[in-house]
This record gives sequence, C-alpha cells and structure tokens, in this order.
Amino acid sequence: MKAKRLTVVSNRLAIVVDKGGEGQWQVRPGSGGLVTALGPVLRDRGGQWIGWLGSNLREMLDQDTLNGLLEQGSRETGYSLKPVELSQEEIQKYYFGFSNEILWPLFHDLPSRCNFDPSYWRVYDQVNAKFAEVVAANTSEEEDYAWIHDYQLILVADHLKKMGVERRTGFFLHIPFPPLDGFIRLPWRFQILRALLQYDLVGFQTVRDRRNFMDCVRTLIPESRFVGHGHVLRCLTPERDILIGTFPISIDFKQFAEFASTKEVQDEAWIIHANLPDRQLILGVDRLDYTKGIPLRLQAFANALERYPDLRRKTSLIQVVVPSREEVPEYEALKSEIERLVGEINGRFTEVGWTPIHYIYRSLNRIELMAYYRTCEIALITPLKDGMNLVAKEFCACSIENNGVLILSDFAGAAAQLHHGALMVNPFDIEGMADVIHRACTMTVAERQRRMEKLRRSIQRYDIFRWVNAFLQAAVNQDLEEFPQAELFVPKPTPTEI
Ligand code: UDP
Repeated sequence: MKAKRLTVVSNRLAIVVDKGGEGQWQVRPGSGGLVTALGPVLRDRGGQWIGWLGSNLREMLDQDTLNGLLEQGSRETGYSLKPVELSQEEIQKYYFGFSNEILWPLFHDLPSRCNFDPSYWRVYDQVNAKFAEVVAANTSEEEDYAWIHDYQLILVADHLKKMGVERRTGFFLHIPFPPLDGFIRLPWRFQILRALLQYDLVGFQTVRDRRNFMDCVRTLIPESRFVGHGHVLRCLTPERDILIGTFPISIDFKQFAEFASTKEVQDEAWIIHANLPDRQLILGVDRLDYTKGIPLRLQAFANALERYPDLRRKTSLIQVVVPSREEVPEYEALKSEIERLVGEINGRFTEVGWTPIHYIYRSLNRIELMAYYRTCEIALITPLKDGMNLVAKEFCACSIENNGVLILSDFAGAAAQLHHGALMVNPFDIEGMADVIHRACTMTVAERQRRMEKLRRSIQRYDIFRWVNAFLQAAVNQDLEEFPQAELFVPKPTPTEI
C-alpha cells in the first residue's frame, strides 16, 4: 500500500522559537543541514515534522502563545509541526550526555573522548520512548511513512514495537557508523544494534559505514546473513529481515548556484575582496567540533607558510567557526586551543598589510556565507571523520565560475563522491596538508576549471532531491512526487503533545 504522508522525526524541530530584537517572541526557520535538506521536500505535501523545540519554552511561554507560534511556523514552513517537550534533565542526559558525549565521539572513532555515564543511557531510552509516543499519536499504519533521523533517535522503532504500535519506519544515520573494534566498546552495543534492526530500512551515508554496520551485526548476531548487491541489501536476522542501504546526502545544488549569482551575494563578495586585495583566500567553515580537525589544519597552514615562503603576503586563511555545544566541556577547551593557535600563528607571521589567519567565531548569515564561498578560491575541509560534510558540496555549488579548488579529507563521507575532482589529504598529516595547500595555491587555471567542472557535475546530478527519492524508493517504492499534495494541516497541539 502506498504511503500518503511523510512524517520526519528528528531531534530538533524545523523551526527556532526565540525572542527577536524588540523582545517579541518570533519563529524562524531552523538552520541545520537537515532542515535545509528536508524543508523543500516536505513543503506543500501535507507532511509533518516531529521534534524538540530546542529549549524549555513551556517555562517561558503560555500554551496559547506557543500554539500561535507553532501555527505560524507551520504556515511559514509549509508543513505541520509536532513538538516533543523535554525537561532540563532530559536535555542534559539524552542530548548533551548520551548523544554528544557517547554516540558522537564513539561513532567518529574517538572512543577516548566518551563519557560512558550509565545514567545517560536510561534517559536516552526514556526520551526515545517519548518521541515514539508522539509518533504513535500522530501517525497511522496505513497512511504514514515515518522517517527517523540520526543518532539521537536510534531507539524510536524499538519503542514503537514495545508499545505494540505497527508503523512503517525508516532510519537514516547522518554521522559515520564506526568499525567493529570501536562499536563493541559501547556498554549498550547489543541494545543499540538490535534497536537499529527494528527499522524496516536503515540508511547510511557511505559504503564504508554500511560495511562497518554489517561487521558488527555479523559479530554480535552470528546467525544473521546479508543478501543482494548494489546500494540496498537485505539483512536477515533470526528475528526479522530488514533493508540496509547507502544514500549519500546532498544539497539543493540549483538553489545554491542561483543564490550565489544574486546581486546581494556579489556585492558582499566584492566587499570581502576589496578589503583583502591581491591575495588568494583559503576558506575553512566548521561548527566548533573536535571531529572537524581545525587545530591540525591551522598547524598545516602554518607549516605551509614556513616551508613555502612564496605563500606569505599572498595567501590568507579565513577560518569560520560556528559556535556549537558550548555546554560540553570538551568544546570549550577546543575553542581555547583554536584561539591560542590562531594567536600564535598570526603573531609569528603577520606583516604590515597582511594577516595570515582571519578568524571568525560566529554563525554567518546566508548572504555572508555564500559570499565567502564565492570569494575564496580554495576550500580547506579537513575533518578527522565526518558523516558527509555539506560545506564541501556547498562550496562547489557556489563556485559558479568553476575557479575554486576543493581540498578534502580522506575521512569525510563526501570523499567517496568527490575524490576525482578534489585534492585529497590525510587530515592527520600536517606536512602532507601543507604540500597540498601549496599545490592548490599554484594550480593552473585550466586544472582548476577541469576539476571543478567535474565536482559540480557530480553534485548537480546527485542532489538532495535524488537523495530523498532514493531513500523513499527503497523504503516504500515511491518518489516524493507520489506523496499526494495536500491542504496544509495547521496543527492545534493538545496539552499532552506539548
Ligand atoms: N552553516 C550555517 N551557518 C554558518 C556556517 C555554516 O548554517 O555560519 C551551515 C552550512 O551551510 C552547512 C551546515 O552548516 O549546511 C554544516 O553542515 P556540515 O555537513 O558541513 O557539518 P555539520 O555541522 O552538520 O557537522
């Protein structure tokens, strides 16, 4: 039976409710990669989004005001919004704790950064049960396909089953899946693995992630088997059969390319250029996160300046760091380390009229970000490990004159798709990265064009809409277009939903 409605479930709802400049409560569209990716595909299809509102708004707002803001959010986004309310303790232990102090570092191959606090697991389990209740209350077995996203919500299908609720469910893991020797350190490895097997389809970013998952299933559930080939396989376990697939996430290429050529972006790009004339600009854009490899990248840039003096006065690195998870102590320490390195490198190399590193610690608005993508000739994207890295794809989409050079880590999920056109680096190899920075700075125009054309062709072909359709085809044998267009249902949340 065809599904009639797509229900997206993610940790964060697709809107942000906060106070505007004049102290008035306001609704803004969310800014994360998932919202950018799924917003356009849910719009006008009568879809719905279930998620946490991002802060404890019930303590600050009365019910009517919150309902009004949600209705406004639904009108503006084009799909209905179903909030899941979380207490302070839940946010601390489920989100900052289990998700970001255990699953995040473990799945990014950094087990020494994990804090395996048992109380985190209990609250993670409890919050996933809460999400499952909201899914059960707002969907039906016949009508809906529930698409659950990412590592914060691995247990949702398992809880639906425990509640005796039959739903068609799929799960997409946006972050990497770790190799067996990392995964088996997790004290709750059986629970997590079995919970993933409760979905009808589990999607990974890359073949490498899926292979890691298969190794774990084979080892921890020895009676299991895999059959088939191609991007979707069948996983047979004694309990049930499910599909496992690879679906590399992407961007709305057309929208980025078109926005990059607007007058606002060109004007902003001109201002950046005019203030930093006669030099090649290298761009780094990352959330504050230890997986992004920022300190090693800064050291590589310093090493390049040291060993290739021809780069001095002619090259600057613009490093944008977007604040993130500042409540987690590791992130605060990382920020200090980055600031110390920037200070040290600038102190060492700066000359009158030239600063090697321009460091920006804030979130950029869309026009600024696009302007940096357009102005900077080289993107330096060197995560130690990354599910995909959308910045790499966005940079290429905005390189509308085909003159950008992408330097990309071997360990970004995007490497599988972009390694033909990018200059690939090992983000742990400081001298190797420095050599590649020099190579990028001295690359001929013809080689840049050839490489960038290849990158842009590939990203344009495999864009976000293709990603959604590939997942839905595997899940319910439907394209998004086959979900009926519907009158927008403006939600009237009941007190229990909030
Ligand atoms: N981004 C943003 N504001 C900024 C800088 C970046 O919203 O000031 C966006 C960027 O456009 C991209 C996302 O943040 O879509 C980062 O996604 P990525 O996959 O590169 O890394 P993640 O932060 O999800 O680990």
